[in-house]
Amino acid sequence: MTGSLAIAGLGPGDAALITPEVSAALAEASDVLGYASYVARVPARQGLRLHPSDNRMELSRASEALKLAAEGRKVVLVSSGDPGVFAMASAVFEALEASPDYSDVAIRVLPGVTAMLAAAARAGAPLGHDFCAINLSDNLKPWELIERRLRLAAEADFSIALYNPRSASRPDGFARVLDLLRDAGCGERLIIFAHAVTTPKERIETLRLDDARAEMADMSSLVIIGNSATRRVGRWVYAPRRAS
Ligand code: SAH
Repeated sequence: MTGSLAIAGLGPGDAALITPEVSAALAEASDVLGYASYVARVPARQGLRLHPSDNRMELSRASEALKLAAEGRKVVLVSSGDPGVFAMASAVFEALEASPDYSDVAIRVLPGVTAMLAAAARAGAPLGHDFCAINLSDNLKPWELIERRLRLAAEADFSIALYNPRSASRPDGFARVLDLLRDAGCGERLIIFAHAVTTPKERIETLRLDDARAEMADMSSLVIIGNSATRRVGRWVYAPRRAS
């Protein structure tokens, strides 16, 4: 029996945004691994083993997925959104680097709709010009590096998508981010708070950064800060295609 590992993105929440490629991989899977709330989005069926795990277990989950695939199982490792964006694909390659025994495992990375793109589509086209994405979690990098990247992104006039803006374990970081961006001269820019996009709890709010409060974000939010030209037209927010 030849095993395989598909590292798949389930999109931002709505099942309509799961790609046909990911659905096909799930239909053929013998084992599905992932953070418990993502595994819960995969319908149970006869013969499918579900392996939910804790949020911080990325590396051991990745090793377990490689091990099962090496044993001949058809494994799908699920992430929300896209598996390559602040998610499991990098963890699998880290595990592969540490365990050359698994170098023959057939691996595929199956893209998904990342939260940033789903949020942008709801707002209009805030990522229509040059942009960057920054993960505000300091689990795996020092806070100083986050601040440095934010300052440089503001100076370069990128639109900025912020993942993991605020959590119970980091209640103050996002307030510091807003202060830093105000100090960097971004107070007049538009900021979009996109909460639980494409789920029944979806909420989208756009305001001037000077008027934003840290409590407007939580772990289910994706935040987009416009560039200096980002503007409104009717109920939409967009970044013009040209810059000078
Ligand atoms: N791989 C995922 C990102 C995982 S990091 C992706 O590509 O989307 C988790 C962060 O993603 C959350 O803290 C939040 O910032 C964002 N996120 C995930 N799903 C979201 C959704 N439905 N609405 C808004 N933000 C979401």
